[in-house]
Amino acid sequence: MRTKMVAGNWKMNKNLQEGIALATELKNSVNTPACEVVIGTPFIHLASVAEVIKGSPIQLAAENCADKESGAYTGEVSAAMVRSTGATYCILGHSERRQYYHETPEILKEKVLLALKNDLKPIFCIGEVKEEREASIQNEVVKSQLEGSVFNLSAEDFAKITLAYEPVWAIGTGLTATPAQAQEMHAYIRSLIREHYGEQVADDTTILYGGSCNEKNAAELFANPDVDGGLIGGASLVAEKFTAIINAR
Ligand code: PEP
Repeated sequence: MRTKMVAGNWKMNKNLQEGIALATELKNSVNTPACEVVIGTPFIHLASVAEVIKGSPIQLAAENCADKESGAYTGEVSAAMVRSTGATYCILGHSERRQYYHETPEILKEKVLLALKNDLKPIFCIGEVKEEREASIQNEVVKSQLEGSVFNLSAEDFAKITLAYEPVWAIGTGLTATPAQAQEMHAYIRSLIREHYGEQVADDTTILYGGSCNEKNAAELFANPDVDGGLIGGASLVAEKFTAIINAR
């Protein structure tokens, strides 16, 4: 039985004090969730938020990590550093990192390997932009993103990955994929995993949907057999909304 999950991605929002306050609210409102709950915070929040959520079922994620192990890379934060804060997950391949920071499939492949080597579970994001959806090449796009960064992994390592299908045209736009569009893509992604790793790994892989998922549409999206939960941006910044999404899973 695969893990169901709701993960938040705070992005570059909240100063440290605001982040601690939000984590405290979440700790108080998330008691016995029916799914894995993860919050992805900026690097500087990680150690403090780890203290706040200690003893609660909430897990912690970084939103990125370096593609180098250690050394003279000014401003970078390594996977080992992330893990040392208490974080157990790392969001990688988010479309904003691909688009604004030019993260290529090769760079992401290194990041995934380093995350795994340092005992961090990647939440690996894939998804097409609007023009690709309009040209009906979304399947080819996600296939090449998977082949470029994670299908090199052994079955044992791939089993530690959570995938997040995030159509870029739906992120932060208020345009959500319809439940049917999400299910169709998730089933396709699972079929690719089946081809590479076989039935068991495909069945066990958690595939999240992300893109303007909120407390109003979450239940309908999560009702699909291949949608195992959500990666939530905007709505993860408000404790009541994020808690409502968790309760919809
Ligand atoms: C995201 O950035 O991962 C995301 C899904 O954002 P939003 O929920 O705001 O669309």
